[in-house]
Amino acid sequence: MLFAYGLSEPNVGGDLPSVTTKATRSDDGKSVTINGTKRWCTAADISDYIYCLVRSDADAPRYKNLSFVLIPTDAEGITIETIGHMGLGYAHTTDVTFEDVVIPFENVIGGEAGWNMGWPMLAGPALDVEKLELTAMALGIAGAALEDARAYAKEREQFGKPISQYQAINHVLADAETKLAACRHMLYYAAWFADNDRPCSAETSMAKLFVTETAVEIVLECQKVMGAYGCADEYDMERYVRDILLMPILGGSSNMMRNNIAKRLNII
Ligand SMILES: Cc1cc2nc3c(=O)[nH]c(=O)nc-3n(C[C@H](O)[C@H](O)[C@H](O)COP(=O)(O)OP(=O)(O)OC[C@H]3O[C@@H](n4cnc5c(N)ncnc54)[C@H](O)[C@@H]3O)c2cc1C
Repeated sequence: MLFAYGLSEPNVGGDLPSVTTKATRSDDGKSVTINGTKRWCTAADISDYIYCLVRSDADAPRYKNLSFVLIPTDAEGITIETIGHMGLGYAHTTDVTFEDVVIPFENVIGGEAGWNMGWPMLAGPALDVEKLELTAMALGIAGAALEDARAYAKEREQFGKPISQYQAINHVLADAETKLAACRHMLYYAAWFADNDRPCSAETSMAKLFVTETAVEIVLECQKVMGAYGCADEYDMERYVRDILLMPILGGSSNMMRNNIAKRLNII
C-alpha cells in the first residue's frame, strides 16, 4: 500500500501551520468533508492514500486547529494533476484538488483524540524522521557521485597519465571524501537520537542543513572532475546534479532548519 504526503499547498510552504485545506465534520460526527488544494504531493497519482494535513477548526487558535486525515486517492471529488519540475524524475509530483470529498471519520488519524491534534503529531518525531530520510538521500547521492568521479579520474587519461594523478584532481576528491565522512557522522549521530526515542529536533535539523548543503558542494565538484562527461546523458552524474539541487529545499528548506536550530538552542 502506498501513501503520498499532503502537507504543502499553493500558498503554504515552510509555514505549515497555515494550511487552508478544510475538513468539516458532519453533524452526526460520522464523516468529514475535505475542500482545498495540496501542491507538490509526490506520487499521489500512484498512491492508495494521501496522508493529509488539514485545517479542522476554523476558529481554534494556531497549532490547535489541524488534523491528519487519510484520503483515498480514488474518492469522488479528487483531481490529480502532474507538476513539471527538474530532478527526482523517478516520481511524479502533483497538485491535488479536493472538492467536497467525503471520508469516514475513522480516516482521521488518532480518531476522536486526534481531531485538532495534527500539529503535535507532525512537529515531533514525524518531521524528525522526514529530515533524516532526506539527509540519507543526500548522503547517498553524494556518495554515488564521488564513487563515479573517483573511478572516472583513474580511467580518464590526459597529457599521458590518468587525471587522478594531478594534484588538482586528487585534492578535490580527497576534500570530497572528507566532507562525505563528516556528512555520514552527522546523519548517524542524529539518527541515533531518533532510534533511541530521544528528542532530536535540533540534531535532525543540523544534519539536514549540513548534509544537504555539503552534498551539493560534493556533487558539483565531482561533476567538474568528469569534465564534459559530467553533463552527458550517458553518465549518471548529470542526474545526481539535478537531484542533489533539490535536497536543501525539500522537507523544509535550509533556512527553516536554521530557524529551528536557533529556536531549539535558545539563540533567539
Ligand atoms: C520535487 C518536489 C517534491 C515535493 N514533495 C512533497 C510532498 O510529497 N509533500 C509535500 O507536502 N511537499 C512536498 N514538496 C514541497 C517541499 O517540501 C517544499 O517545497 C518545501 O517545504 C519548501 O516550501 P516552498 O517551496 O513553498 O518555499 P517557501 O516556504 O515559500 O520559501 C521560499 C524561500 O523563502 C525562504 N523562507 C520562507 N520562510 C522563511 C523564514 N521564516 N525565514 C527564513 N527564510 C524563509 C525559504 O528558505 C526559501 O528559500 C516537494 C517539493 C518538490 C520540489
